[in-house]
Amino acid sequence: MTSIREFQNLMRRLYRVRDSKRGAKATHDWLKEEVDELYEAIEAINKEGIAEELADVLAWLASLANVLGVDLEEAALSKYAGSCPKCDSSPCICTSERKEP
Ligand SMILES: [Zn+2]
Repeated sequence: MTSIREFQNLMRRLYRVRDSKRGAKATHDWLKEEVDELYEAIEAINKEGIAEELADVLAWLASLANVLGVDLEEAALSKYAGSCPKCDSSPCICTSERKEP
């Protein structure tokens, strides 16, 4: 099994030079583009496309974390450490939906 950290390290090995040259803003823009492509695949009910776009979103998220020097696994698991960060329950018992962007 590959962990989030191992996947982030793989992205670093593959794309470190390109990612660091591109920088945070452009890498963020690519991530947004991939999220938009994911939605297009969802709308088209294209299961294969959805899986590919989810993989791209994860890859660009890991690249952005690399550019910013953030350990994605540590960040994710420290915030989502087995329970909802708002109500501290598992499963979540919050009465309102997750915060909209
Ligand atoms: Zn909750």
